[in-house]
Amino acid sequence: MDSDDDIQLNDSDSDGESEEKGTQILSFADLETKMKDAISEIQDILEVKPGVCRILLQKHKWDKNSLLERFYEHPDTNEFLKAANVIPEESETFPELPVPTDCDICCMPGELTGLACGHLACIDCWRAYISDRINDGKCEVECMTGECMLLMEDEKVNFYITDPIILEKRRQLIVNSYVEINKCLRWCPGKNCGKIIKAAHSEPHLVQCSCGTQFCFFCGNDGHEPVSCRLLKLWEKKCLDDSETANWISVHTKDCPKCLAPIEKISGCNRMLCRNPSCKFQFCWMCMRDWDVHGYSPCNSYDPKKEKDRVKNRANLDRYLFYYNRYKGHGDSLKLEKKLVKAVETKMEVLQHHSQISWADVQYLPKAVETLSTCRRTMMNTYIFAFYLEHNNHAEMFEANQRDLEMATEQLSGFLEQDLLSQSGQEKMKTLIQNVQDKCRYVEHRRKILMDHVVEGTEHDVWVFREE
Ligand SMILES: [Zn+2]
Ligand SMILES: [Zn+2]
Ligand SMILES: [Zn+2]
Ligand SMILES: [Zn+2]
Ligand SMILES: [Zn+2]
Ligand SMILES: [Zn+2]
Ligand SMILES: [Zn+2]
Repeated sequence: MDSDDDIQLNDSDSDGESEEKGTQILSFADLETKMKDAISEIQDILEVKPGVCRILLQKHKWDKNSLLERFYEHPDTNEFLKAANVIPEESETFPELPVPTDCDICCMPGELTGLACGHLACIDCWRAYISDRINDGKCEVECMTGECMLLMEDEKVNFYITDPIILEKRRQLIVNSYVEINKCLRWCPGKNCGKIIKAAHSEPHLVQCSCGTQFCFFCGNDGHEPVSCRLLKLWEKKCLDDSETANWISVHTKDCPKCLAPIEKISGCNRMLCRNPSCKFQFCWMCMRDWDVHGYSPCNSYDPKKEKDRVKNRANLDRYLFYYNRYKGHGDSLKLEKKLVKAVETKMEVLQHHSQISWADVQYLPKAVETLSTCRRTMMNTYIFAFYLEHNNHAEMFEANQRDLEMATEQLSGFLEQDLLSQSGQEKMKTLIQNVQDKCRYVEHRRKILMDHVVEGTEHDVWVFREE
């Protein structure tokens, strides 16, 4: 089954190609057109309403061939449509519509209408029911009667719903369900962008939208090389669980010697009670020994075994904080350095009038800022990679590469942020711009070495990750 071919667009339809070969940027309207085309093709063969075709196509992941194969397998078209819940099981007794009687739902007298299954209600009840479903984010609407599986075709939904806001919402839901069912389509996560990226394959890789947003096509996060989507997810979950409290805990608490729960010291007394309800161990804050044994005797003995567990638990927390603080440090720098873009632009205007500096050299500066951001992001991710990485020779090499890239990145940052913006002497400026160019090439070189080493290691299966 190859559902990709069904949504192949001509290049002239797309807004542009990004760097990755075969990546297209599509608009909401592009997709609606594509859906409409597929629907009318199917409609010619199946001879049912367009709204029914849409439901059938959605069920077959918009793979026309798969849908038609199934269709031709069934000798009886009605059986095929029944199996898809687009026509009712029993359709002999079509009621004459509308029927003037009491509505079963609201018990008010009215003119009842309904679906081919014969389930009836007043128009207000239908409208309220369908609106609720759409507001709940449901694309398909079943019959209102609980046990009836009949799906309402789009024509029926549009007949009952007149509110343009609800109708627009449903339009969004329909296109969204089209995007979500196709592995090679993904909404751009950029703010208010609304474009859809069509990738050549669904494996993790970096894509760029026409709005400038770069993201991992597989998981939708910011680019996270060299970390895999899975490790990134683990890390983010860990940070969410741990980071708020981890720093505070490391400074203000000790771990209960029995259950290892962190305990805060809130009074001067050294007799501590573990707050873990299933533990309630009492111990001495100074030596961590059982208070039953310890009592108010002098605190002067030492238990090497207990001390070892406590130290180990604390070491795990310290280890995590080591990586987390560096990860966060580079992330904070990345945010702060966004301001550099504007500052450098301003500086460039001034530099235009310097006689000794060529315009080509000046134009190199924005590229240097971009390189700096790329390296900051890489540095962040190297700390996730290193946190999970089991120690071996290759890990040592990785750390050496990480260290070199980090130093070079800091130097580039220093040139751009401090020296460049404060410098004005012509001769010095010329040297500085030369330095920026050299450093920029150097960090790109270091980054490539680090990345290549990771890729090579993956190919040779040398990376061992401890997943906690
Ligand atoms: Zn009613
Ligand atoms: Zn029904
Ligand atoms: Zn975008
Ligand atoms: Zn990813
Ligand atoms: Zn305890
Ligand atoms: Zn006390
Ligand atoms: Zn003690």
